[in-house]
Amino acid sequence: MKLDHRRQTLRPRYAFVTSQFAVAEKETIVVRLEHDGLAGYGEVVCSPLYNQTLEGAEAALDAMPALLGDDPFAIETIVRRLIEHHDAHRDAIAAVDSALYDWVGKRLGVPVWRLLGLDRPRVRTTFTIGIAEPEEIRVKVREALAAGYDALKIKVGGKHDHDTLGHIREHFDGPLILDANQGWTPEEAPARIEALTPYRPALIEQPLRKEDWRHMAELRRLGVAPIFADESCERPADVVRLHGFVDGINIKFNKCGGIREALRMVALARGLGMQIMLGCFVSSSLAIAPALAIATLADYVDLDGALLLADDPFTGIHHDASLLEASTAPGLGVGPRSAEAS
Ligand SMILES: [Mg+2]
Repeated sequence: MKLDHRRQTLRPRYAFVTSQFAVAEKETIVVRLEHDGLAGYGEVVCSPLYNQTLEGAEAALDAMPALLGDDPFAIETIVRRLIEHHDAHRDAIAAVDSALYDWVGKRLGVPVWRLLGLDRPRVRTTFTIGIAEPEEIRVKVREALAAGYDALKIKVGGKHDHDTLGHIREHFDGPLILDANQGWTPEEAPARIEALTPYRPALIEQPLRKEDWRHMAELRRLGVAPIFADESCERPADVVRLHGFVDGINIKFNKCGGIREALRMVALARGLGMQIMLGCFVSSSLAIAPALAIATLADYVDLDGALLLADDPFTGIHHDASLLEASTAPGLGVGPRSAEAS
């Protein structure tokens, strides 16, 4: 099997760029796995939160061909081997896992979701609005609602939370997910969370620092909203550790290493009676496609990472406002927008 990779630059959609939150250009890595005249694709999405860097992922990818063997159908064995040797580079492993599933789906002529025995994903994604000055938030909220998004995720922990949330609840009655991104201490969190009650959060994500996960049990007992772990929950073993302390987990492919590991997390969470959110970082549709393939297994889908781009370099996922629909084409069903990008 041959493995190539190249960087791609992603640009945010103009409408969402203002002086306050001009999102810097973001680079990801497109991985192309070729075998027997057929290519499968994956995307490496690095997050500094998990000490992931483009250079680190590239070095890991350069070392991976020797571990792939000569049978792309042996995904379980290959991913095990990659984890054994490159455990710190789950972002790169996720991209290779994606490329393997894409390759197998294309070879068999079936979409990846079908290969996995799942229904065709037609799911509603939440739309995320970041921390910003109140006036900017109002513009974003207005745009999101005008565009038809019917589930919002708001980052909390800024100075203007109550102003923002009050404004949103004046105009929006639908599901509202609040993500504190580790913003609070165990001491201050109970009061902070109780103060969010009027805004009827559907759930509250990662209120405490990742290492303070034990204290999330106390926050569940407040009864304001289900408490979900994101930064505290990276891999399958974390699901077991967090059982009893949180109501649900946020699975992201660059944290866990792709479809294979995500399915283990889903199985563990379901077995333990925990809820599941499927999340992402800003990326092209290439990284969204493998997550979307298993999105029917999640209670909450937060796969808006490609919706903010000015020109998504990959196409194939149909979306109508918050409704994401997976392709029926073989494999992941996404391909480069321009021929020269392939
Ligand atoms: Mg989060």
